[in-house]
Amino acid sequence: ALPVKLERILQNQGFGSRRQCRQLVELGEVRINGEVVDDPGAEIPTSGLVYEIEGEAWTYREKTYLALYKPAGFECSHEPKHHRGVYSLLPHPLVVRNVQSVGRLDVDTTGLLLFSDDGAFIHNLSSPKKHVPKVYRAELAEDGTDALVERLLAGVSLIDEPQPVKALTARLLAPRTLEMSIDLGKYHVVKRMIAAAGNHVDKLHRHGFGGLALGEGVLAGLAEGEWVYLEAADLQQLH
Ligand code: URA
Repeated sequence: ALPVKLERILQNQGFGSRRQCRQLVELGEVRINGEVVDDPGAEIPTSGLVYEIEGEAWTYREKTYLALYKPAGFECSHEPKHHRGVYSLLPHPLVVRNVQSVGRLDVDTTGLLLFSDDGAFIHNLSSPKKHVPKVYRAELAEDGTDALVERLLAGVSLIDEPQPVKALTARLLAPRTLEMSIDLGKYHVVKRMIAAAGNHVDKLHRHGFGGLALGEGVLAGLAEGEWVYLEAADLQQLH
């Protein structure tokens, strides 16, 4: 990669306006390979360097991909109406970089939510044509039965869906815990499917997205409200 002016790099990475980024540098808040660089106009290669900004390690990224463990009570919206927004859980530079969630989870739904500023990536993962499975765990209001599982696998009719909607997998993990996967994202789809199959969702949690799952691999140890960057190897697992 060609060298770029330091103030431009910081601005492009979401550290604020041109003026704010220049100030950050002039105040000695930027270290590169351990040395303070206080010239905002210094021409810097974007790869192969170790950055520290305001005392925190930071990695240059062409595009941003991350996974959040969404807590209940947050809206997937930039302009939340009745609750806090999920974007308030992300650090300011990422929000400035305009990351968007890949699909949405309901306010009361917990679990894995992906974000990126790569439009093609978001589009690909959101498209039902790509058949990326999402795994949900539902707490049921009444004990689940074999008939419930069979109905979900066979496909249920939803109002305003022309075709029956099928779960790719469905099984009971406990009498009132149903795990099911689907490859489409529609408004309240899991809750509507389970209602159509004769039960009711008390609580909903998204456990997995493609080959990524909470509690495993790069997401092991991720607590509610926390997020991590996804690197190229993690993204491979999504498809
Ligand atoms: N299905 C739902 O009903 N709610 C969600 O949040 C996600 C899928």
